[in-house]
Amino acid sequence: MSAKLLEGKSIASRIETELAEEIADFIQNNGAPPSLAAVLVGDDPASAVYVRNKSQACDRVGIEGKLHRLPAETTEEQLLELIAQLNADDDVNGILVQLPLPRHIRATRVLDAVHPLKDVDCFHPENVGLLWQGRPRFLPCTPHGVLQILARSGLSVAGKQVVIVGRSEIVGKPLAALLVAKSSHLGAELANATVTICHSQTADLASITRQADVLIAAIGSPKFIKAEMVKPGAIVVDVGINRTEEGLCGDVDFAAVREIAGFLTPVPRGVGPLTVTMLMHNTLTAARLQLG
Ligand code: NAP
Repeated sequence: MSAKLLEGKSIASRIETELAEEIADFIQNNGAPPSLAAVLVGDDPASAVYVRNKSQACDRVGIEGKLHRLPAETTEEQLLELIAQLNADDDVNGILVQLPLPRHIRATRVLDAVHPLKDVDCFHPENVGLLWQGRPRFLPCTPHGVLQILARSGLSVAGKQVVIVGRSEIVGKPLAALLVAKSSHLGAELANATVTICHSQTADLASITRQADVLIAAIGSPKFIKAEMVKPGAIVVDVGINRTEEGLCGDVDFAAVREIAGFLTPVPRGVGPLTVTMLMHNTLTAARLQLG
Protein backbone atom coordinates (compact mmCIF):
# COMPACT_ATOMS: atom_id res chain seq x y z
CA MET A 1 0.00 0.00 0.00
CA SER A 2 1.25 3.45 -0.90
CA ALA A 3 1.84 6.08 1.82
CA LYS A 4 -0.50 9.06 2.10
CA LEU A 5 1.41 12.12 0.96
CA LEU A 6 1.57 15.09 3.33
CA GLU A 7 1.62 18.09 0.98
CA GLY A 8 3.29 20.97 2.77
CA LYS A 9 2.67 23.38 -0.07
CA SER A 10 -1.12 23.49 0.36
CA ILE A 11 -0.80 23.68 4.16
CA ALA A 12 1.62 26.61 3.79
CA SER A 13 -0.89 28.43 1.54
CA ARG A 14 -3.65 27.96 4.12
CA ILE A 15 -1.44 29.31 6.94
CA GLU A 16 -0.41 32.27 4.76
CA THR A 17 -4.07 33.17 4.25
CA GLU A 18 -4.63 33.10 8.02
CA LEU A 19 -1.47 35.15 8.61
CA ALA A 20 -2.49 37.75 6.01
CA GLU A 21 -5.72 38.31 7.97
CA GLU A 22 -3.85 38.66 11.27
CA ILE A 23 -1.39 41.06 9.67
CA ALA A 24 -4.22 43.17 8.19
CA ASP A 25 -5.64 43.46 11.74
CA PHE A 26 -2.19 44.36 13.07
CA ILE A 27 -1.84 47.13 10.48
CA GLN A 28 -5.32 48.46 11.28
CA ASN A 29 -4.48 48.62 14.99
CA ASN A 30 -0.92 49.91 14.73
CA GLY A 31 -0.79 51.90 11.51
CA ALA A 32 2.24 50.12 10.03
CA PRO A 33 3.01 46.59 8.83
CA PRO A 34 5.48 44.26 10.58
CA SER A 35 8.85 44.54 8.88
CA LEU A 36 11.60 42.04 8.14
CA ALA A 37 15.18 42.99 7.24
CA ALA A 38 16.97 40.29 5.24
CA VAL A 39 20.77 40.43 5.08
CA LEU A 40 22.43 38.66 2.16
CA VAL A 41 26.23 38.65 1.96
CA GLY A 42 27.94 37.51 -1.25
CA ASP A 43 26.46 35.97 -4.37
CA ASP A 44 25.69 32.35 -3.54
CA PRO A 45 22.91 31.55 -6.07
CA ALA A 46 20.96 29.23 -3.73
CA SER A 47 20.97 31.90 -0.99
CA ALA A 48 19.71 34.49 -3.47
CA VAL A 49 16.79 32.17 -4.35
CA TYR A 50 15.96 31.61 -0.67
CA VAL A 51 16.00 35.37 0.03
CA ARG A 52 13.80 36.02 -3.03
CA ASN A 53 11.29 33.39 -1.83
CA LYS A 54 11.18 35.04 1.59
CA SER A 55 10.70 38.47 0.07
CA GLN A 56 7.84 37.21 -2.13
CA ALA A 57 6.22 35.64 0.94
CA CYS A 58 6.45 39.02 2.72
CA ASP A 59 4.56 40.61 -0.19
CA ARG A 60 1.87 37.94 -0.10
CA VAL A 61 1.08 38.30 3.62
CA GLY A 62 1.55 42.07 3.98
CA ILE A 63 4.94 42.23 5.73
CA GLU A 64 7.34 44.96 4.67
CA GLY A 65 10.49 43.20 3.45
CA LYS A 66 13.77 45.12 3.28
CA LEU A 67 16.79 43.54 1.59
CA HIS A 68 20.35 44.50 2.59
CA ARG A 69 22.66 43.07 -0.06
CA LEU A 70 26.36 43.18 0.77
CA PRO A 71 29.36 42.16 -1.34
CA ALA A 72 31.25 38.91 -0.62
CA GLU A 73 34.29 40.87 0.65
CA THR A 74 32.27 42.55 3.46
CA THR A 75 34.21 42.22 6.71
CA GLU A 76 32.83 40.74 9.91
CA GLU A 77 33.04 44.18 11.56
CA GLN A 78 31.07 45.80 8.73
CA LEU A 79 28.39 43.15 9.02
CA LEU A 80 28.23 43.58 12.80
CA GLU A 81 27.84 47.31 12.27
CA LEU A 82 24.83 46.73 10.01
CA ILE A 83 23.30 44.34 12.57
CA ALA A 84 23.76 47.01 15.28
CA GLN A 85 21.97 49.57 13.07
CA LEU A 86 19.10 47.17 12.39
CA ASN A 87 18.87 46.31 16.12
CA ALA A 88 18.50 50.03 16.92
CA ASP A 89 16.02 50.75 14.12
CA ASP A 90 12.44 50.85 15.49
CA ASP A 91 11.11 50.35 11.97
CA VAL A 92 12.74 46.89 11.80
CA ASN A 93 10.91 44.12 13.67
CA GLY A 94 12.75 41.03 12.46
CA ILE A 95 16.31 40.43 11.26
CA LEU A 96 17.23 37.50 9.08
CA VAL A 97 20.86 36.78 8.20
CA GLN A 98 20.88 34.39 5.25
CA LEU A 99 23.28 31.46 5.77
CA PRO A 100 25.85 30.39 4.81
CA LEU A 101 28.00 33.48 5.31
CA PRO A 102 31.37 33.79 3.51
CA ARG A 103 34.09 31.73 5.23
CA HIS A 104 35.95 34.75 6.66
CA ILE A 105 32.89 35.75 8.74
CA ARG A 106 32.13 33.86 11.95
CA ALA A 107 28.42 33.08 11.71
CA THR A 108 28.06 32.52 15.47
CA ARG A 109 29.41 35.98 16.23
CA VAL A 110 26.97 37.59 13.80
CA LEU A 111 23.91 35.56 14.86
CA ASP A 112 24.65 36.21 18.54
CA ALA A 113 24.65 39.94 17.75
CA VAL A 114 21.04 39.96 16.53
CA HIS A 115 18.74 41.44 19.19
CA PRO A 116 16.87 38.53 20.87
CA LEU A 117 13.50 40.25 20.27
CA LYS A 118 14.28 40.53 16.52
CA ASP A 119 15.73 37.00 16.21
CA VAL A 120 13.03 35.57 13.90
CA ASP A 121 15.16 32.51 13.05
CA CYS A 122 15.36 31.58 16.77
CA PHE A 123 19.16 31.17 16.67
CA HIS A 124 20.11 33.46 19.59
CA PRO A 125 21.28 31.53 22.69
CA GLU A 126 18.65 33.32 24.83
CA ASN A 127 15.87 32.13 22.51
CA VAL A 128 17.33 28.62 22.21
CA GLY A 129 17.45 28.46 26.03
CA LEU A 130 13.81 29.56 26.33
CA LEU A 131 12.86 26.94 23.73
CA TRP A 132 14.53 24.11 25.68
CA GLN A 133 12.92 25.34 28.90
CA GLY A 134 9.52 24.86 27.27
CA ARG A 135 8.64 28.58 27.12
CA PRO A 136 9.62 29.56 23.56
CA ARG A 137 9.62 33.21 22.51
CA PHE A 138 10.04 32.31 18.82
CA LEU A 139 9.43 28.90 17.28
CA PRO A 140 12.30 27.73 15.05
CA CYS A 141 11.01 27.94 11.47
CA THR A 142 11.66 24.51 9.94
CA PRO A 143 10.82 22.53 13.12
CA HIS A 144 7.62 24.58 13.52
CA GLY A 145 6.82 23.79 9.88
CA VAL A 146 7.14 20.06 10.62
CA LEU A 147 4.75 20.40 13.58
CA GLN A 148 2.25 22.31 11.43
CA ILE A 149 2.27 19.61 8.73
CA LEU A 150 1.60 16.91 11.33
CA ALA A 151 -1.04 18.93 13.20
CA ARG A 152 -2.96 19.96 10.10
CA SER A 153 -2.89 16.40 8.78
CA GLY A 154 -4.53 15.19 12.01
CA LEU A 155 -1.42 13.30 13.14
CA SER A 156 -0.02 13.19 16.66
CA VAL A 157 3.36 12.48 18.26
CA ALA A 158 2.33 12.23 21.92
CA GLY A 159 3.60 9.01 23.48
CA LYS A 160 5.18 7.91 20.21
CA GLN A 161 8.75 6.94 19.39
CA VAL A 162 10.16 9.75 17.27
CA VAL A 163 13.58 9.31 15.67
CA ILE A 164 15.30 12.36 14.18
CA VAL A 165 18.32 11.71 11.96
CA GLY A 166 20.45 14.88 12.12
CA ARG A 167 21.53 17.02 15.08
CA SER A 168 21.97 20.46 13.50
CA GLU A 169 21.19 23.68 15.37
CA ILE A 170 18.71 24.60 12.61
CA VAL A 171 16.65 21.42 12.34
CA GLY A 172 17.49 18.34 14.43
CA LYS A 173 18.10 19.83 17.88
CA PRO A 174 15.34 22.47 17.96
CA LEU A 175 12.86 19.95 16.52
CA ALA A 176 13.73 17.58 19.38
CA ALA A 177 13.14 20.43 21.86
CA LEU A 178 9.63 21.01 20.49
CA LEU A 179 8.66 17.33 20.29
CA VAL A 180 9.89 16.42 23.78
CA ALA A 181 8.18 19.43 25.43
CA LYS A 182 5.22 18.89 27.76
CA SER A 183 2.93 21.08 25.68
CA SER A 184 2.74 22.85 22.37
CA HIS A 185 0.79 25.81 21.04
CA LEU A 186 -0.75 23.30 18.61
CA GLY A 187 -2.02 21.12 21.46
CA ALA A 188 -0.67 18.29 23.64
CA GLU A 189 -0.85 15.86 20.70
CA LEU A 190 2.08 17.73 19.10
CA ALA A 191 4.32 17.33 22.18
CA ASN A 192 5.17 14.61 24.70
CA ALA A 193 7.04 12.39 22.24
CA THR A 194 9.86 10.03 23.18
CA VAL A 195 12.66 11.44 21.06
CA THR A 196 15.88 9.85 19.83
CA ILE A 197 18.40 12.00 17.94
CA CYS A 198 20.81 10.20 15.59
CA HIS A 199 23.88 11.53 13.76
CA SER A 200 26.86 10.41 11.73
CA GLN A 201 28.41 8.60 14.72
CA THR A 202 25.29 6.63 15.63
CA ALA A 203 25.96 2.88 15.65
CA ASP A 204 23.54 0.61 13.79
CA LEU A 205 21.35 3.47 12.63
CA ALA A 206 18.84 1.25 10.80
CA SER A 207 17.98 -0.69 13.97
CA ILE A 208 17.02 2.63 15.61
CA THR A 209 15.13 4.16 12.68
CA ARG A 210 13.10 0.93 12.32
CA GLN A 211 11.66 1.54 15.79
CA ALA A 212 10.32 4.96 14.84
CA ASP A 213 6.60 5.62 14.73
CA VAL A 214 7.65 9.00 13.36
CA LEU A 215 10.92 9.18 11.42
CA ILE A 216 12.33 12.61 10.56
CA ALA A 217 15.29 12.91 8.17
CA ALA A 218 17.41 16.09 8.27
CA ILE A 219 20.73 14.85 6.95
CA GLY A 220 21.60 16.51 3.64
CA SER A 221 22.29 13.21 1.87
CA PRO A 222 20.14 12.29 -1.17
CA LYS A 223 17.84 9.26 -0.73
CA PHE A 224 19.75 8.17 2.41
CA ILE A 225 16.73 6.65 4.20
CA LYS A 226 15.93 3.34 2.50
CA ALA A 227 12.76 1.25 2.79
CA GLU A 228 14.45 -1.28 5.08
CA MET A 229 15.17 1.51 7.59
CA VAL A 230 11.46 2.32 8.00
CA LYS A 231 8.85 0.66 10.22
CA PRO A 232 5.77 -0.34 8.18
CA GLY A 233 3.07 2.33 8.52
CA ALA A 234 5.40 4.96 10.02
CA ILE A 235 5.02 8.69 9.53
CA VAL A 236 8.11 9.80 7.57
CA VAL A 237 9.02 13.49 7.35
CA ASP A 238 11.74 14.40 4.85
CA VAL A 239 13.38 17.73 5.67
CA GLY A 240 16.27 17.24 3.23
CA ILE A 241 16.70 19.41 0.15
CA ASN A 242 19.43 18.09 -2.15
CA ARG A 243 20.29 19.38 -5.59
CA THR A 244 21.20 16.44 -7.84
CA GLU A 245 21.60 16.02 -11.59
CA GLU A 246 18.02 14.74 -11.72
CA GLY A 247 16.74 17.82 -9.84
CA LEU A 248 15.72 18.35 -6.21
CA CYS A 249 15.36 15.36 -3.94
CA GLY A 250 15.07 14.69 -0.24
CA ASP A 251 17.00 12.58 2.26
CA VAL A 252 14.44 9.79 1.85
CA ASP A 253 14.38 7.30 -1.01
CA PHE A 254 10.90 8.48 -1.94
CA ALA A 255 9.81 5.77 -4.40
CA ALA A 256 10.87 2.88 -2.16
CA VAL A 257 9.82 4.36 1.21
CA ARG A 258 6.42 5.33 -0.21
CA GLU A 259 5.63 1.61 -0.45
CA ILE A 260 6.21 0.96 3.26
CA ALA A 261 5.44 4.20 5.17
CA GLY A 262 1.93 5.19 6.24
CA PHE A 263 2.51 8.91 5.62
CA LEU A 264 5.30 10.69 3.76
CA THR A 265 6.22 14.30 2.94
CA PRO A 266 7.39 14.82 -0.67
CA VAL A 267 10.38 16.90 -1.80
CA PRO A 268 9.79 19.45 -3.21
CA ARG A 269 6.40 20.75 -1.92
CA GLY A 270 6.85 19.17 1.51
CA VAL A 271 8.53 20.84 4.50
CA GLY A 272 10.32 23.52 2.44
CA PRO A 273 7.36 25.89 1.85
CA LEU A 274 6.45 25.79 5.55
CA THR A 275 9.86 27.13 6.61
CA VAL A 276 9.25 30.43 4.82
CA THR A 277 5.69 30.67 6.12
CA MET A 278 6.87 30.19 9.70
CA LEU A 279 9.39 32.98 9.21
CA MET A 280 6.43 35.24 8.41
CA HIS A 281 4.69 33.97 11.54
CA ASN A 282 7.77 34.87 13.62
CA THR A 283 7.99 38.35 12.08
CA LEU A 284 4.44 39.06 13.23
CA THR A 285 5.35 37.68 16.68
CA ALA A 286 8.40 39.99 16.76
CA ALA A 287 6.31 43.03 15.82
CA ARG A 288 3.81 42.21 18.60
CA LEU A 289 6.60 41.63 21.15
CA GLN A 290 8.19 44.98 20.34
CA LEU A 291 4.91 46.78 20.98
CA GLY A 292 5.29 45.52 24.54
P1 NAP B 1 23.72 19.82 8.68
O1 NAP B 1 23.93 20.98 9.58
O2 NAP B 1 24.74 19.46 7.67
O3 NAP B 1 23.46 18.54 9.61
C1 NAP B 1 23.32 17.27 9.04
C2 NAP B 1 23.15 16.26 10.15
O4 NAP B 1 23.04 14.97 9.55
C3 NAP B 1 24.36 16.22 11.11
O5 NAP B 1 23.91 16.12 12.43
C4 NAP B 1 25.09 14.96 10.68
O6 NAP B 1 25.76 14.30 11.72
C5 NAP B 1 23.95 14.09 10.19
N1 NAP B 1 24.45 13.09 9.28
C6 NAP B 1 25.24 13.28 8.19
N2 NAP B 1 25.54 12.10 7.60
C7 NAP B 1 24.94 11.15 8.36
C8 NAP B 1 24.89 9.74 8.31
N3 NAP B 1 25.54 9.05 7.34
N4 NAP B 1 24.19 9.08 9.24
C9 NAP B 1 23.54 9.73 10.21
N5 NAP B 1 23.56 11.09 10.33
C10 NAP B 1 24.24 11.78 9.41
O7 NAP B 1 22.36 19.97 7.87
P2 NAP B 1 21.00 20.77 8.20
O8 NAP B 1 21.21 22.21 8.09
O9 NAP B 1 20.33 20.21 9.41
O10 NAP B 1 20.14 20.31 6.92
C11 NAP B 1 19.83 18.96 6.68
C12 NAP B 1 19.05 18.87 5.39
O11 NAP B 1 17.84 19.58 5.52
C13 NAP B 1 19.75 19.49 4.18
O12 NAP B 1 19.38 18.76 3.01
C14 NAP B 1 19.17 20.87 4.10
O13 NAP B 1 19.18 21.41 2.79
C15 NAP B 1 17.76 20.60 4.54
N6 NAP B 1 17.07 21.74 5.13
C16 NAP B 1 15.83 21.97 4.70
C17 NAP B 1 15.09 22.99 5.24
C18 NAP B 1 13.70 23.18 4.76
O14 NAP B 1 13.19 24.27 4.80
N7 NAP B 1 13.02 22.11 4.34
C19 NAP B 1 15.65 23.83 6.20
C20 NAP B 1 16.94 23.56 6.66
C21 NAP B 1 17.64 22.49 6.11
P3 NAP B 1 27.04 14.95 12.49
O15 NAP B 1 26.47 16.01 13.40
O16 NAP B 1 27.63 13.82 13.23
O17 NAP B 1 27.92 15.53 11.43
